[in-house]
Amino acid sequence: MKFTRLRLTGFKSFVEPSDFLIEPGLTGIVGPNGCGKSNLVEALRWVMGESSYKNMRASGMDDVIFSGSGNRPARNTAEVTLFVDNSARKAPAAFNNADGLEVTRRIEREAGSVYKINGREVRARDVQLLFADASTGSRSPAMVGQGRIGELIAAKPQARRAVLEEAAGISGLYSRRNEAEQR
Ligand code: ATP
Ligand code: MG
Repeated sequence: MKFTRLRLTGFKSFVEPSDFLIEPGLTGIVGPNGCGKSNLVEALRWVMGESSYKNMRASGMDDVIFSGSGNRPARNTAEVTLFVDNSARKAPAAFNNADGLEVTRRIEREAGSVYKINGREVRARDVQLLFADASTGSRSPAMVGQGRIGELIAAKPQARRAVLEEAAGISGLYSRRNEAEQR
């Protein structure tokens, strides 16, 4: 699954609409302390369906919305869109009608998140499964956060197994089974 562009509006320190092209190959983010490098990585995780605000260094999910600075007032919404290359047409059937996928998550203060894929409203679960099946989800071992390696070494076997299952691309199957069993 190739990401081609990340667009942020009102997300953390990215108050004005900001577009980041993700070219083929290795991408590095460099800049002085506090310029928003970690915020960018968090935006990527957030749009893929991250449900834990703690993983976003926040004390509530609304904290991802721009909270104002100096002469700029706070915003009431934050939006992140991830553009995914689908030229190989490997997306799930429901979204496989275009060469690209546009996955959007939008949050409004005190109203929670809304997700869209190619303009169509979907459940958080649909977005989480889309990325989990491609082994790139917000919890995927492809996203190595600060302190994560040490945490993994100290983790209980059960937690370590969950990481291996994500890497193997089978965790999506487990959540589908749980969902099916609840019906
Ligand atoms: P470092 O090199 O120290 O790791 P960084 O480039 O990773 O820095 P970030 O942690 O991504 O920087 O950005 C921190 C900045 O984002 C801080 O200035 C903080 O005030 C700002 N910030 C975080 N959340 C919000 C928010 N909701 N609204 C406005 N600004 C925010
Ligand atoms: Mg950082």
